Amino acid sequence: SFAYFDWIAHHAEVRPERIAVVDLASSRKISYRAMDERVDRLAAHLAALGVGRGDRVAVLALNAVETLEVQFACFRLGAIFVPLNVRLTVHELSYIVGDAAPRVLAHDDELAPMAKELKAACSVPHLLAFGAAYEAALAASPRLGASEPVTLDDVSTIMYTSGTTGKPKGAMITHGMTFINAVNLGIPAFISQRTVFLCVLPLFHTGGLNCYTNPVLHAGGTTLLMRAFDPGAALSIIGDPSVGLTHFFGVPSIYQFMCQHPAFAATDLSRLQIAGVGGAPMPVPLLKIWQERGCALVQGYGMTETSPAVLMLDADDAARKAGSAGKPVLHADLKIVGPDGDPVKPGEMGELWVKGPNITPGYWNRPDANRTSFTDGWLHTGDAARVDDEGFYYIVDRTKDMYISGGENVYPAEVEDVLYQLPEIAEAAVIGAPDPQWGETGVAVVALKPGQELSEAKLLAHCRERLARFKCPQRVSFVEALPRNATGKVHKPTLRERILVRET
Ligand code: ATP
Ligand code: MG
Repeated sequence: SFAYFDWIAHHAEVRPERIAVVDLASSRKISYRAMDERVDRLAAHLAALGVGRGDRVAVLALNAVETLEVQFACFRLGAIFVPLNVRLTVHELSYIVGDAAPRVLAHDDELAPMAKELKAACSVPHLLAFGAAYEAALAASPRLGASEPVTLDDVSTIMYTSGTTGKPKGAMITHGMTFINAVNLGIPAFISQRTVFLCVLPLFHTGGLNCYTNPVLHAGGTTLLMRAFDPGAALSIIGDPSVGLTHFFGVPSIYQFMCQHPAFAATDLSRLQIAGVGGAPMPVPLLKIWQERGCALVQGYGMTETSPAVLMLDADDAARKAGSAGKPVLHADLKIVGPDGDPVKPGEMGELWVKGPNITPGYWNRPDANRTSFTDGWLHTGDAARVDDEGFYYIVDRTKDMYISGGENVYPAEVEDVLYQLPEIAEAAVIGAPDPQWGETGVAVVALKPGQELSEAKLLAHCRERLARFKCPQRVSFVEALPRNATGKVHKPTLRERILVRET
């Protein structure tokens, strides 16, 4: 029954005074006992608003403890938690809210105007504002009585993908997937009741919610929640001995912004037990910068649809195998296949497929995507990967971002890695552009660090020395900054539109 999988209730009984969440913006420290009671009252309030098993409850907010409380209240009711990306426009969100059709939309103060528009546009029955109204609702609610048990196969969450390659898709996440991920990540990342983790990524994406917030709460550890990422504030928490931070997680751009911050050089990084990175290709030169500061980042690979961990590097291998996304997590099955769906020969590149208790049963309301994304229970990741002779995986890039130049496949991430070796470069991305002679050729889109200069000729010469001719970009476009989505990933469709449409 569900009771066995109610982590908050368990820790409230076993270690009630331990701090579950520190909400940094409001300086609140919430113990497991307090969280358990708040979740219970919230669940009762939601039930009074008509939320029952299978009903959706959406959240539109910057990181706050209330978002986690809504998640656990949904878990307790057998309802479905739907975190929403605050960086989308009302137009984009109304597509998602219309798709998920939540009974309640919870939101913070800042996003109240947007929440009201969405309520009207999508006929959402109830809004729930964090802050005074929320606290009053909790105070007025009784504790929840016994509720009908849910199973590990029940859907607990609809998590929309980052929308890096197209419209976000609502991946259905089951209770079992979240539980398996806590085990899959928790073991290699040493997550325990002693863990003190700083969450800087948004909770509305799998990176913030599950790397490592949910696994840490599952283990009875403590999560420090930052409202929105601030590199200086993150560095000061990492370096502060009185905080005793053990775990940190970021996408590559998070580490890049931190190492370009003036406080980086003086921050003591040595206390961190695990600093994880994943979510997008991680340039090796950036790994080296952190490694030289005594902090070997452990890379992992995953996606929303896989809850998310699929690959993870062991801490012991982090320095020696910099650049690899690691080996398969404990409870997952992997294979690398060619275009025909048959496994490739050892060492060859192909598309990564995943199967197991960590993968989604499918996308919400997307029969089209459900048909094309699975074969006999194997999820097609859309990512190109290869394995070395020691069994370490390398994620090459998205198959969608690959372009073909003179008949040769070019994976932009490989070229970007070479660009990041140039110290003048702050951000780099490579896209394929139509070319009458070669079919497609690469365009390097580059943002320089403040006060730096770099000529197109020098950049291209650097590439020619290190890359096969067909991989070398043919031209360079200098920009102020790259377009990124809320996860911090470079949004290549926007980039292609900006660079290629402008040129034609
Ligand atoms: P959408 O599916 O909506 O286009 P998205 O794929 O970016 O967006 P997520 O589920 O957040 O949404 O991200 C998963 C993807 O992130 C993976 O499929 C992969 O392309 C990329 N990724 C994750 N980890 C790594 C890694 N270590 N190295 C390279 N790429 C990674
Ligand atoms: Mg995806």
